[in-house]
Amino acid sequence: MIDFHCHLDLYPNPVEAANECVARSIYVLSVTTTPSAWRVSQRLLERSGRIRVALGLHPQIAHERRGEIDLFQELIGDARYVGEIGLDGGPEYRAHWKVQNEIFLKALEAASKAGGRILSIHSRHAATAVIDVLSQNRDAGLPVLHWFSGTPNELNLAIDMGCWFSVGPTMLNSERGQSLVAQMPRERILTETDGPFTKNQGMPLFPWDAQRAVKTLASLWQTHEREVEGQLMENLREIVALGTQHLD
Ligand code: MN
Repeated sequence: MIDFHCHLDLYPNPVEAANECVARSIYVLSVTTTPSAWRVSQRLLERSGRIRVALGLHPQIAHERRGEIDLFQELIGDARYVGEIGLDGGPEYRAHWKVQNEIFLKALEAASKAGGRILSIHSRHAATAVIDVLSQNRDAGLPVLHWFSGTPNELNLAIDMGCWFSVGPTMLNSERGQSLVAQMPRERILTETDGPFTKNQGMPLFPWDAQRAVKTLASLWQTHEREVEGQLMENLREIVALGTQHLD
């Protein structure tokens, strides 16, 4: 099982959650929201080769943590994965749009300088802007658009520029989400949960809840869960291989 975008460091007991992931042999990309969280999360949570911690600066707090972009630039040499970065065009974050753009661009430039990275990207209410910035910074690496919620046209633009997608149970609960996922190339999809931010009946989702996404994918693709799991593992191997190569 694969959770390519969650926040292990934000569960009440991160180590316990990570240990459970190890016990269940789940592949996890644990993204961070601030560069200052990265080193300690990496030490604490990379408890097996299946867990990786990504270096991030979340767009929803970019205005509060803009000073940490220097640390981001310092750390990127040691980070194989970047996330969560991106833009959020929701009304609550619009006021900080300019800062968000500055931080997103600086993070991408740092990734370019470092030779390219796998990038887990937030694009809520900002798909067109995110795609524009990414298309002007192709050397930054391979973008994985997490919980994509743009229009079908924006999705086509993202597909055309080579983006990958991580999709979770919450996205797949809606018809709109399902119809977007049905349009995505199967060989560029990974599962995610975005836990603990996502909830089911008031309880935060854990990485093992990615299985719910597998279930929905099986019904969308009209195949068996095993087939979906095989495809997803193939995709994971592919993206890991791409990440270990020089990405430009
Ligand atoms: Mn997230």
